[in-house]
Order: sequence, then C-alpha cells, then structure tokens
Amino acid sequence: MFVTVETASESVIKVETGKTAGFDFGLKQFLSTSEGFNIDAPLFFKQSLNEIQKANRELSRKQKGSNNRERARKNLARRHEDISHKREDWFWKLAHRLTDQFDVLYFETLNLKGMQRLWGRKVSDLGFRTFLSILEWVAQKKGKSVFYIDRWFPSSKTCSCCGHVLDELDLSVRRWRCPSCGSENDRDENAAINIKQVGASTCGLGDVRRATPAVAA
Ligand SMILES: [Zn+2]
Repeated sequence: MFVTVETASESVIKVETGKTAGFDFGLKQFLSTSEGFNIDAPLFFKQSLNEIQKANRELSRKQKGSNNRERARKNLARRHEDISHKREDWFWKLAHRLTDQFDVLYFETLNLKGMQRLWGRKVSDLGFRTFLSILEWVAQKKGKSVFYIDRWFPSSKTCSCCGHVLDELDLSVRRWRCPSCGSENDRDENAAINIKQVGASTCGLGDVRRATPAVAA
C-alpha cells in the first residue's frame, strides 16, 4: 500500500525522549494514542455548546432593533470568545504535554468532511484543525516532529497485531476480535497503533515491527 507522509516542520528530528506515538481523533475521546492512554475531551467542550445554543435562542427571541437584542447579541459574542479562549488554552497545554512526552507524533491527514459524514456536524466544534496547527507550531519550536499519514489507510479496520484487514467495521463496534490472529482490538487504540506503525515505517524511523498487542481482559 502506498502511503504518503508529509512533515509539518522542516527541522531535523531531534531525539530527546526517544519516544514516538500515533494519535487518532475521536468524539468521546479527543485523542486515542498508541501508548495505552487516551485524552478525554474536556467537559467544557460540551457545556460551551449548550451555552452557545442558549445564547442563540435568546437572541432570536428579542425584537429587531431593540436594546435587548443588542445586549443578547453582545452576550452571544462574548460566549463565543470565552469558549474559544478556553479551548485554545487547553490545546496549548495539550500540545506542550504531548511534545514533552514524544519526539515524533503521527496523525492521519485530517478529513473533516469525512468525519462530519460519520459523526455529524459537531465535529467542526471540536477544533481538530486548530489543535493541529497549535501542535505543529509548538513541535517546531521544540524541535519535535508531526507527521501525517495518508487518510486512505484503513487504520480502524486493520489489525495492529497481524495486519489483517476487515472488509467492514461498523462505527458502533468499539472492540473486535481479529479473525486471523485472534487478538482483541480496542477500536481507537488499534487505529492509533496502526497510525504509528505506518508513520514510522514510512518515515524509516523507530521500530517498525508490529508490537505485541496489549490484550485487555
Ligand atoms: Zn490480527
């Protein structure tokens, strides 16, 4: 399979932690990683959506041209601003944390349209693109690297243990047993491991062997 890799930074890869990781964006978990931990989306992501909806409703109830409407409009704008500040702050902290932990970070090329088809419109509120641009910036400053693998690689349907590719994997299936090697795969973690393996082998970096799966009980 042909996989393209783009590098976000031109800098020479620095070996500091000696660690690399693959990451997969999700709805419930903001990021799943190949390293056995997940990054939960903070609660304010959801809270802020509700706040915005409420402020929107209030605005639409006020009479055009009234002072009340102007007040509601300002309130909505403030909510938007608050939320984007909170979110960005969280993104910066996460970007620093991940670049402290890893030298090379692998992601799939972002496909927001495809994600929206699968998950619905709220994907655009999660700020994946904003996060990646912050992460790229931080990585470059610290001499770390962010690589993207081709999004056509079937990262969810491929067994990270043996490479077997399923014909289909329904979105509702969170865990699956590989018909070929019998290992049990957590959907998101499996995808993140594949992203790391494909990224590492394409970049000629790190250990490209398939890791022994961490079989959960
Ligand atoms: Zn397998």
